[in-house]
Amino acid sequence: MKINSPLQAYEHLPKTNCGDCGEPTCMAFASHMLDRSKKIEECPHLLDEKYEDNYTTLTDLLAPEIREVVIGTGDRAITIGGDDVLYRHKLTFFNKTAFAYDVWDTMDENELVSRVNKIQNFTKFYIGDFLTLDAIAIRCVSGDADQFARTVSTVITTTELPLVLCSLDAGVLSTALEVACDRKPLIYAATTENWRDIAELVLKYDVPVVLSNPGDPDALKSLALTFESMGITDLVLDPGTSPTKGLRDSFENFLKLRRAGIAGQTDIAYPLMAVPMTAWAELDGVSAAYWESVLASVFTVRYGDIAIMHGIEPYALLPELHIRDTVYTDPRKPVMVDSGVFEIGSPDQKSPVIITTNFALTYYTVESDLASNDIGCYLCVVDTDGIGVEAAVAGGQLTAAKIKDAFASAGFDVQEKTDHGTIILPGLAARLQGDVEDTTGLTVMVGPPDSGQIPRWMESRWEQQS
Ligand code: SF4
Repeated sequence: MKINSPLQAYEHLPKTNCGDCGEPTCMAFASHMLDRSKKIEECPHLLDEKYEDNYTTLTDLLAPEIREVVIGTGDRAITIGGDDVLYRHKLTFFNKTAFAYDVWDTMDENELVSRVNKIQNFTKFYIGDFLTLDAIAIRCVSGDADQFARTVSTVITTTELPLVLCSLDAGVLSTALEVACDRKPLIYAATTENWRDIAELVLKYDVPVVLSNPGDPDALKSLALTFESMGITDLVLDPGTSPTKGLRDSFENFLKLRRAGIAGQTDIAYPLMAVPMTAWAELDGVSAAYWESVLASVFTVRYGDIAIMHGIEPYALLPELHIRDTVYTDPRKPVMVDSGVFEIGSPDQKSPVIITTNFALTYYTVESDLASNDIGCYLCVVDTDGIGVEAAVAGGQLTAAKIKDAFASAGFDVQEKTDHGTIILPGLAARLQGDVEDTTGLTVMVGPPDSGQIPRWMESRWEQQS
């Protein structure tokens, strides 16, 4: 039975509270192992011979329900799978869905290098983090093993991103693996027709492999059992991804496999692959791009661990990346930024002092609205435990005392730093105005409810009273 409380994990630790793991007690370390912020190996004593059995027991009992599979090597390697729950609110989802974008072996070299560079260099700043793409899927379109190997070789020299090698021909994959095996690529795919040859390759090169059997989860299960009996367990399952009318069946197959895996059916508890780019095989132009994004979104939410896609235009990438970022934030931890008083632009004695909360989405929205409109100011970020303005006012995390403390902790004296001795509350915190005036002794103005309205508010209210 899996361990699901810190006390159960603690029973298998040395119980010396030596602190060598960076935690003050073994119990603290136990709870961090459970939330996966610490690895078993970080207790160095568990690696002693004396604790060998404890180490093995903990490794077994803490293993996630869905097996983890690593693709690639070095800093850019990606781990997929590893989930323990069907619903994010029950714990959290681990190892965000990896997004792999395709190139193909009939591209000319300049076009190939340019597309690989676009994929590896794409970055978007969003709520304090950089959203990026994860892998390159190289498709064999020519059917020619040497041409495919040359393409793989060019990609390898252009990027460190993990690779997915896509061909159903074991001969083609074999030639490519001679070039790429050191990069531990994911092989796509073994099917009910080619599985013997692909299994041989996987054993020879020790690489992870996708088992593909669209529309038939039971056949996929027997393929997985066959590979497992051969000692191959770095498996990814492709149950098929169809747009439009086929979406319902695809969706149900993903649910069926993941439910069984989480329920303890270890023979199919493997990461799942979605292939949203099938939309391009069945549809054209705008419809294909639309359906690819729909499929990417659906199978990021339910339960694709890796997705192969084609469209790299920003209108496709942004919704795909944003939905992934939303699903894979940890619901146990509010997304927050540091509190304090920060300068936006080059504020002076006449600049406004604006209050906000440390909920990351609020902070970055306000900060961006101020900076992009050249509004030089002091931005006072109050620690509200990562809760937004309206909820923090209702819940007591944003109060007059908290605002006063925020200035005091930052060593920021509004009367000294400014000529006006005024602070501006968010419109959604208007009801704190009297309290804040009484507590801080400052003049308090109420700003707009939405930071997008700050520029107009500055013209109509701030500049007129200055
Ligand atoms: S290093 Fe190991 S024994 Fe020491 S406190 Fe951490 S968990 Fe306990």
